[in-house]
Amino acid sequence: MIFSKYPNIFYAVSTAVDGNMSFLTGDKNQALENRKKFARKNDFDENSIVSVNQIHGNKVLKVSNKDGGREIDADGMITNQKGIYLIKKLADCLSIAFYDPKNQAIGLIHAGWQGLDKDIINNVVLQMKRNFRSHSENLIVQFSPSIGPCHYGGPPQLRNTKDPKWKKYIAKDVDENYGIDLWQFAKDQLINLGVLEENIYNPKLCTFESKDYFSHRRSQKTNEPDFRFATMLGIKN
Ligand SMILES: [Zn+2]
Repeated sequence: MIFSKYPNIFYAVSTAVDGNMSFLTGDKNQALENRKKFARKNDFDENSIVSVNQIHGNKVLKVSNKDGGREIDADGMITNQKGIYLIKKLADCLSIAFYDPKNQAIGLIHAGWQGLDKDIINNVVLQMKRNFRSHSENLIVQFSPSIGPCHYGGPPQLRNTKDPKWKKYIAKDVDENYGIDLWQFAKDQLINLGVLEENIYNPKLCTFESKDYFSHRRSQKTNEPDFRFATMLGIKN
């Protein structure tokens, strides 16, 4: 975990043991309870959590302490305030956490294929530049566990896309199974924007394979509950 050398940064990924974190899948009160427990386990107040409900676009909002407890409709959030914890719920999708140690600013985005296609990475970097004077070469970037090219076949509109930017990331094996590499797509975009390769960390934990995390696609195959785990990012008080 690339943020471990920055003691003022809190970054955590909940696991299946922590339970469902989304209000939109399963029981809302249970999810609220799970978030509370997770926040307390990590020594912060659940009222300082601001949560994003993805809209599969490239919208990135600047949030502040007054947004604590809110659920906002966007695909990303940025802030330079301490004591506010950004949370993104996931089950296969990639979330990417950004930290600018020089200007003490953070960002957290949902980077599914649609957001990546609509340049959400470019947008979050741009917003951090505009709002916090961040420079790409200072950004520290952490990928969440997410479905890997080993198990991600994507929807037909992505598999059959004519957009040349996707071409080298879409592979097909001899049995006509598709493998789409969102990990490499996201990493190449970051590098093109000037983020240094050594500052990008991907644990390459495929959610479809790892029972530690919820997986939407695995749940469809196995009838496990279609729950969400969470990534959380904040600057400590
Ligand atoms: Zn896999």
